[in-house]
Amino acid sequence: MKTMTCRQMGGPCDTPFQGDTADEIMNKGIQHLEEIQDEAHKKAQKMMMDAQKNPEEVKKWYEGFREEFEKLRRIEAHRTRPKSPKEGLINLGKDKDRSL
Ligand SMILES: [Zn+2]
Repeated sequence: MKTMTCRQMGGPCDTPFQGDTADEIMNKGIQHLEEIQDEAHKKAQKMMMDAQKNPEEVKKWYEGFREEFEKLRRIEAHRTRPKSPKEGLINLGKDKDRSL
């Protein structure tokens, strides 16, 4: 079981999602974007939907997401947290509610 947050998936909050596979976590993340529907999440959802029109973008996002997912294994192994997590996979820079 792994945990990724909304933010790690390029979203605007720190809600955690758990799953055994990258796909499982991704589906929970997508569901979460649909459920929350505040401005920041609507924007993230829209960006994701726009990206889906472009297969190259989807591929890029998915690869980045898988990379993040694989990193979790190392984080768990070393019991350390990265000091500055990679910027959101989808660029939501100005929507971040805290600067890292
Ligand atoms: Zn969220």
